[in-house]
Amino acid sequence: MIKLVNINMSFGGKQVLNKINLEVAAGEILVIIGPSGSGKSTLLRLITGLLKPDGGQIWVNGREISGLSEDSLIPVRQQMGMVFQYAALFDSMTVGENVAFGLREHTKMTEEEIQKIVRRTLRMVGLSGHEPTMPDQLSGGMKKRVSLARAIAGNPSILLYDEPTTGLDPIMSETIDRLIVSTRRILGVTSVVVTHHMTSAFHIADRIAMIHQGQIIETGTSEQFRNSTNPIVQQFIHGKQ
Ligand code: ATP
Ligand code: MG
Repeated sequence: MIKLVNINMSFGGKQVLNKINLEVAAGEILVIIGPSGSGKSTLLRLITGLLKPDGGQIWVNGREISGLSEDSLIPVRQQMGMVFQYAALFDSMTVGENVAFGLREHTKMTEEEIQKIVRRTLRMVGLSGHEPTMPDQLSGGMKKRVSLARAIAGNPSILLYDEPTTGLDPIMSETIDRLIVSTRRILGVTSVVVTHHMTSAFHIADRIAMIHQGQIIETGTSEQFRNSTNPIVQQFIHGKQ
C-alpha cells in the first residue's frame, strides 16, 4: 500500500509537484501518465525515499517514510523493487550476477539459495539459461527483463516501473506489459508504472492517474479515461496513440 498526502516538491524554486494526493491499494496496478517534465519520475523517487518531499507525507505499507533516516529506510526499500527508465544493469557483471546482486548485498542467503532464486526469476521473465550472458550482448527488451528479474529477486511487495517500455518495439512492449501483469498476479505486488504509452496504460492499469503541471488532474479506470470529458486528458490520450 502506498499513500501520498499533500506532497509538495520543488527544485531550485520551481514547484514540480503541488499538493499531490494519491493512494495505491495493495496488489493494485496504478499507471501514471503525463507530459514530459510533469514530475512522474520525481514521484517514484519520492516513494523510494531517495528524495525527500518539501511537504506532505508518504506512507509505504503502513509506515510514514518522509521523516525516516537513511538507516531506517533500508528495510522499507527492501520491500521495493525498481525497474528504471534506462535498464541500469551493471555492465561488468553477468546477467546472473546482476540478478543476484541485491541478495548478496542485503541477505545472508547461501549461494545455493541465491542461484535458485536467480534461476526462478530469469525463468519468470523468459530468460532461462542466460546467467552467463554479459549485458552488452542483450537487446533493449532483454535488458529490461533482466532489470525486472533483479527487482523481483528481492521478493518485494511493491514494484515501481519508470517507463518500462520506452525505446522498445511494439512486440517487446507487449511482452513487458504482460510480464507486469503476470508478476502482479503471481507475486501479488502493488505496482506503480510510469509510461508514455497509452496502449500499455489501457492494457495493464487497474487505475490511471494523470499528472499535469504538478497536479493530479484525473484518476480512474481505463474506461473512465477513455470517456473523460477533460480536454487536457483527451488531448494527451489522442496525441499519444
Ligand atoms: P519524463 O517524462 O521526461 O521522464 P518526468 O515527468 O519523469 O519527465 P521528472 O523527471 O520528474 O519528469 O522531472 C520533473 C521536473 O523536475 C523537470 O522540470 C526536471 O527538470 C526537474 N527535476 C527533476 N529532478 C531534478 C533535480 N534533481 N534537480 C533539479 N531539477 C530536477
Ligand atoms: Mg521520467
